Amino acid sequence: MKQRLLFLGPPGAGKGTQAQQLAASKGLLHLSTGDLLRAEVQAGSELGKEAEAVMARGELVSDALVLAIVRSRLAQQAASGGGGWLLDGFPRNPAQAEALGQLLEELGQQIELVVLMELDDGLLIQRLLGRGRADDNEAVIRHRLEVYREQTAPLISFYRNKGLLQSVEAAGTVEEIAERIGSLLD
Ligand code: ADP
Repeated sequence: MKQRLLFLGPPGAGKGTQAQQLAASKGLLHLSTGDLLRAEVQAGSELGKEAEAVMARGELVSDALVLAIVRSRLAQQAASGGGGWLLDGFPRNPAQAEALGQLLEELGQQIELVVLMELDDGLLIQRLLGRGRADDNEAVIRHRLEVYREQTAPLISFYRNKGLLQSVEAAGTVEEIAERIGSLLD
């Protein structure tokens, strides 16, 4: 089974829900940079203070900061015997993807599958508005979609060219989508 996975897709596509469920059922480390950053904000750490305003605007937190978080978690897992992982919300731009590639090379690991969750804008906005997180008001949502298109979407061809990308239609029930993703792992 493929167990080094990356979830890609616009905000609202349901990456977090699917990633959490899949990681729990397959015993993978679930690394959501959004969740980790929100935990830092909640804890009032220096890192959280730096990230909070940027997140509220729907922009990307600095690559260095996000990379430090991911690096420490992946290195820690590798040092304690390794195992599978699922990256959710990272990488989010080409520089992060390059840095991840380097980090994995250092760790002697490879991405085995990139799952692209696809959904059209109307449904994305509807879902995000229904969620009601601090950065889920309409203006910020539109900005996040723009940031996705400009900075994150180039990763689709980056990973497609490496032969790693598979797309999944992200409309339907949580179970239906989980089944589509599950069928890509063998
Ligand atoms: P969504 O998928 O709904 O956009 P996330 O929880 O993945 O939500 O991210 C929320 C916010 O956290 C982003 O808008 C951004 O400000 C910040 N963030 C998360 N991951 C990254 C990352 N890899 N690089 C930079 N900023 C990030």
